[in-house]
Amino acid sequence: MGEQQDVAIGKKYAPELEKQMGGKIDNASIQNYVNSVGQKVANVSHRRSWNYQFVALEDDMINAFALPGGYIFITKGLLSKLTTESQLASILAHETAHVVARDTAVLMSREIGISILLSAAISDSTSSTARTAADLTRQIIGFRFSRRDEKDADLAGLDYMVRAGYDPNGMVETMQILESQQKERPIEFFSTHPNPENRIAYLKSRIGSRYRKREGLRIGKEDFRSAVLSHIKKN
Ligand SMILES: [Zn+2]
Repeated sequence: MGEQQDVAIGKKYAPELEKQMGGKIDNASIQNYVNSVGQKVANVSHRRSWNYQFVALEDDMINAFALPGGYIFITKGLLSKLTTESQLASILAHETAHVVARDTAVLMSREIGISILLSAAISDSTSSTARTAADLTRQIIGFRFSRRDEKDADLAGLDYMVRAGYDPNGMVETMQILESQQKERPIEFFSTHPNPENRIAYLKSRIGSRYRKREGLRIGKEDFRSAVLSHIKKN
């Protein structure tokens, strides 16, 4: 499976994933903001040639997804728990790192198979034997990455967010937010992104060794509030 197949598969499954997760949030401020933060991160990643798209979805589950080829999604449920732009950047950077490492592409080709992915019917077929894109998308949404892939995505994502000008402590804060949510009820993010042991500890250690100078790095609390939270809370 090469780069062109990654893009073809991402393009084919992105609309179906959006549909199953409640559709795009119908708000230009949120979409433009999420996409602009994502583009900053993707522009400093190890694979810049893809046409990345960062989309906010209506679903209230707390989760984020990446499809091959640069299609990245974050739910309203997760956005509503965050408080700063650097926290948002950390989620988008983590997902970008999964795309760059082709984690989803590898899982999709191993668990489903390229020819099935490419030949699945787009609309619900009347044939009982053909697997539809809708069936396959449900399977893709539930994919779990390995703990090793998660740790790699965290550390590469941390590097991307700093290169993009964000305070890396945003990733530690995001983990703390997710863990405190997890104490209330199991959240979807940890069913698709297994929690590696000591996630906060290794992030703090990496920040301490590589990114000690954090002056001038962006946090963006007020911008996040006005571009995202003020629109979500109104609904
Ligand atoms: Zn992950």
